[in-house]
Amino acid sequence: MVLPYTHEPFTDFTNEENRKAFEAALKQVESDFGKEYDLVIGGKRITTDKKNKSINPSNKEQVVGVVSQADQELVEKAFQSAKEAFKTWSRWDPKVRAEILFRAAAIVRRRKHEFSATMVYEAGKPWGQADADTAEGIDFMEYYGRHMIELAQGKPVNDRPGENNEYVYQPTGVGVTIPPWNFAFAIMCGTTVAPLVTGNTVLQKPAEDTPVVAAKLVEVLEEAGLPDGVLNFVPGDPSEIGDYLVDHPTTKFVNFTGSRATGTRIYEKAAKVQEGQKHLKHVVVEMGGKDTIIVDKNADLDLAADAIVNSAFGFQGQKCSACSRAVIHQDVYDEVLEKSIEFTKKLSVGNPVNDTYMGPVINQKQFDKIRDYIEIGQKEGKLKIGGEIDDTNGYFIQPTIFAGLDPEARIMQEEIFGPVVGFTKAKDFDEMLDIANNTDYGLTGAVISNNREHLNRARTEFDVGNLYFNRGCTAAIVGYHPFGGFKMSGTDAKAGGPDYLQNFLQAKTISEQL
Ligand code: GLU
Repeated sequence: MVLPYTHEPFTDFTNEENRKAFEAALKQVESDFGKEYDLVIGGKRITTDKKNKSINPSNKEQVVGVVSQADQELVEKAFQSAKEAFKTWSRWDPKVRAEILFRAAAIVRRRKHEFSATMVYEAGKPWGQADADTAEGIDFMEYYGRHMIELAQGKPVNDRPGENNEYVYQPTGVGVTIPPWNFAFAIMCGTTVAPLVTGNTVLQKPAEDTPVVAAKLVEVLEEAGLPDGVLNFVPGDPSEIGDYLVDHPTTKFVNFTGSRATGTRIYEKAAKVQEGQKHLKHVVVEMGGKDTIIVDKNADLDLAADAIVNSAFGFQGQKCSACSRAVIHQDVYDEVLEKSIEFTKKLSVGNPVNDTYMGPVINQKQFDKIRDYIEIGQKEGKLKIGGEIDDTNGYFIQPTIFAGLDPEARIMQEEIFGPVVGFTKAKDFDEMLDIANNTDYGLTGAVISNNREHLNRARTEFDVGNLYFNRGCTAAIVGYHPFGGFKMSGTDAKAGGPDYLQNFLQAKTISEQL
């Protein structure tokens, strides 16, 4: 009997014992710094001459791990072993496949702090954010495992006299998973195990910034009993192997989370039918966001400021769900802005090893990009707090608020992916909705209001995949808030929701005359 799904609880870091346990995990992970990680192809570990160093973004001197890099030849080998493994894995009883996920979830739960501590170093995640990331990865395994068991029953269709009909799901084949660095465990895990539990075989190319935590998942899945060749771990330089993975005629699906530029490129490339390819590729892409919190005049203003600040600055704003636009009714604009500045003053920024509220941004490229946007913001609006940056040891950027922005300003339109939020004033709810919808993206949004009519209007008129009322716009939980966006945010696959696994399945109708 499989118990009903509930989400993994978060660790209470006010409890001294939990703090001690986490500190011990940080020490343990630190003692592994510099360790080498191999490719895994067909169950075999392969060391290459070419390596990628995974650096701690809080302290550029620290090498968290050294990871072998696949070239096209090795990726080709991985395709062949995934093809071979598909022949048997696809026929496994779905329940037995699901049990591998449940075992893997149990192993990660036992090593929870180690996974979170790895992300403190490798991704610059503060404790609470890292803990939530690990919990979400566990949730994906528990949720998708259960959902696969349900889907294995098929869906009801009508019979009629003399005819029995069935509607069942089958795996599709070999696919490619390309996860992001920001939810270095959760999304990496979810986008990998969903195609696996549905009976497909996968080549995973981890994010260049966070390959160590991905290598640890591969170890866990092996320990949980995943057969050789079902998951092939192929870290590598995207400019060398990215197109090769997507273009390959064997690839049945691509599951990508990351930037809009890469996502749209994958979408376009995957549409081309290659020589020898006898199917159309299915593409799941989760891309960016330019997410808005609307604050109505009749609203709890403390709640509003708290929602804006935490959604904008949690994990340094490096979430596609992060609040980067606050659209405030003119009657309460000054008050919400003042409160948000006050709350922001209390946030600590520094090396997250020391349990700060905010850590560094992920790398030099992102740091430079955010710095450029801060310069743009200074021309477009009024800097109210933050703006200081420091990349001497790590990539630190203070939480930054700009006010008085035109909704068309670049920092109100372009995804920054850092701790920068822009404020703008609106005269009424119509205008607030217009401004909120006035972006290319449609991922998350929140409305802070006590006006029921306005909340009801937002249900249909606020054009986002994840709409939240009287709370922040981040921190979706698997099975509770299926996650995915509209417009240029992606294909709205709704990770952690009841329609997600179908992306990696093909439905088959079987009809028999009696
Ligand atoms: N699911 C995450 C959230 O709700 C965001 C995922 C992402 O940034 O890609 O905050």
